[in-house]
Amino acid sequence: MTRGEGACLVCGKPLIYLKRAKEMECSFCHKKYKSYAACEDGHFVCDDCHEEKGIRLILETCAGSTAQNPIALMQDLMENPYLYMHGPEHHVLVGAALLTAYRNCGGAIDLAASLSEMRERGSSYPGGACGLWGCCGAAVSAGMFFSIVTQATPLTGKSWGLSNQITAQALGAIAKLGGPRCCKRNSFTAVREAVLFTEHHLGIRMELPDQIQCGFWAENQQCLKQHCPYYPYVPEHP
Ligand SMILES: [Zn+2]
Ligand SMILES: [Zn+2]
Repeated sequence: MTRGEGACLVCGKPLIYLKRAKEMECSFCHKKYKSYAACEDGHFVCDDCHEEKGIRLILETCAGSTAQNPIALMQDLMENPYLYMHGPEHHVLVGAALLTAYRNCGGAIDLAASLSEMRERGSSYPGGACGLWGCCGAAVSAGMFFSIVTQATPLTGKSWGLSNQITAQALGAIAKLGGPRCCKRNSFTAVREAVLFTEHHLGIRMELPDQIQCGFWAENQQCLKQHCPYYPYVPEHP
């Protein structure tokens, strides 16, 4: 299956955009919607099915993963066409990758139960909140990870404080890099901060790559390129 903007999720052929919306039947759920896009062979996948498949893929992959490096695990998952370049599935992805690596590095959690809780919490955080609410969902997802691991609730003491603090640390690092939004950049940044925070406060050391290199910049029309720490190319000097 090929990934990338404009590839059909059913057959991989390019999508064609119409001038006017037309009623189409989703190839997966068979519900009918008005849409502007279908592939050359007429396949159409509705937004609900697209997100549903993406989140299911994240949870199934994490449940069976032995990864100790949550960035590498996320990067593998991001290669799949069911994960959009940008989208609210990243609010589940960040926390799920952290929970998985945490367990695989010795953290004592029930991974299946934790992932299912992550799905509940992460999917209830809306897309676009970074710009509209001033609080990026990748940072919130790191907070959800920490809350699940430490069983924080609104009534707990230390875990309540730390769960808010990890979100603040991730959000601060994301904010410092500046906009416009990039779900890849924000996810890498949130996970990196969460790994450092978790080692410091819980003594569980997850792995990080020596250097985080983004493979998705070409799909992001608003990529900061040389101004993003994960942009893989050194600027050329004439
Ligand atoms: Zn197709
Ligand atoms: Zn559908």
